[in-house]
Amino acid sequence: MDPRPARSNGGPRSWLIGVVAVAAGSLLLAACGGGGNGGEADGGSEAEGYPDREITFVVPFAAGGPTDTVTRLVAEPMSAKLGQQIVVRNVEGAGGTVAAGEVANTDGDGYTMLMHHIGMSTAPALYPNLAYKPLEDFKTVGLVTTVPMTIVARKDFEPNTMQDLVTYVKANADKVTYANAGIGAASQLCGLLIEKAMGVDLTEVPYDGTGPALTDLVGGQVDFMCDQTTNTTGQIKADKVKAYAVTTPERVEALPDLPTTAEAGLEGVDVGVWHGVYVPAETPDDVVVKLTDALAAALTDQAVVAKLAELGATPAPAADVTPEAHRQLLQEQIDLWAPIIKEAGVTAGG
Ligand code: ASP
Repeated sequence: MDPRPARSNGGPRSWLIGVVAVAAGSLLLAACGGGGNGGEADGGSEAEGYPDREITFVVPFAAGGPTDTVTRLVAEPMSAKLGQQIVVRNVEGAGGTVAAGEVANTDGDGYTMLMHHIGMSTAPALYPNLAYKPLEDFKTVGLVTTVPMTIVARKDFEPNTMQDLVTYVKANADKVTYANAGIGAASQLCGLLIEKAMGVDLTEVPYDGTGPALTDLVGGQVDFMCDQTTNTTGQIKADKVKAYAVTTPERVEALPDLPTTAEAGLEGVDVGVWHGVYVPAETPDDVVVKLTDALAAALTDQAVVAKLAELGATPAPAADVTPEAHRQLLQEQIDLWAPIIKEAGVTAGG
């Protein structure tokens, strides 16, 4: 099965997709309907004078990780466009679900936004008692980026190539450790794919985000991980970690010498992580319009575009920086991953 949804205006658009294709099928997100964008008549006057005070931008992972990096990059030009300060706040825990639950329960007044990634679509299937419904409890503001992942290891980890890694991991499955940012994190999903592709069951070492996980990898406390180029590119170029492959069908311009997983002989590990901005569902539509405009301005800001390219990330094209395109992708991804996760039997428990 090809898990990439074909999209209405132009066929499969792999940049948008968090894809985890596994052997005969795929691994990896759930439900709802109703609520969400356009659900209420907003009267049209709520945005008058908005914003007149500081806005909080919640990041669902630790500082220093890819989601944090992308949020801080767009927050500055968004703030300039909106004429108000945007304060980034990291709310860590449970693969990003603690933050999403918190934002779902804040006032829908446009003063709290959430940046989230593919995990917004996988959480309902992974967390049976999830405290929020992505499509009902949030409005989508727009898509932000798509980012490839890379498989990297501590500098002195024995295997030097992907083939070495497969052989080594298979022979040492009981002692090899891989880091991730918790259940529902992209790094955890990528790790599951790697386990499946290699036919092994490894010891996961969960962190609250890529920031601390990568610090420990560089420090040699864990063996390997799979995470976004946003944070691994610098470490790879500085020779602080060993890199085996990038998890997308094509190589990444920022790391031209790094083979793709397919080129390196690891079939079925194909992941692109997408990000989007959310607000609580009660947020007036005309406030969302202002936030969407600010996000669109940020994503065409030349400094942001250049920095994202340097980090191997691609800004969402203008057509996708809309509540509608974002909502459609979220729905598609929920529908895509729910059965795959079920089949994989992955769960965060009750
Ligand atoms: N990249 C992390 C993940 O695995 C989260 C983060 O720190 O941004 O999902």
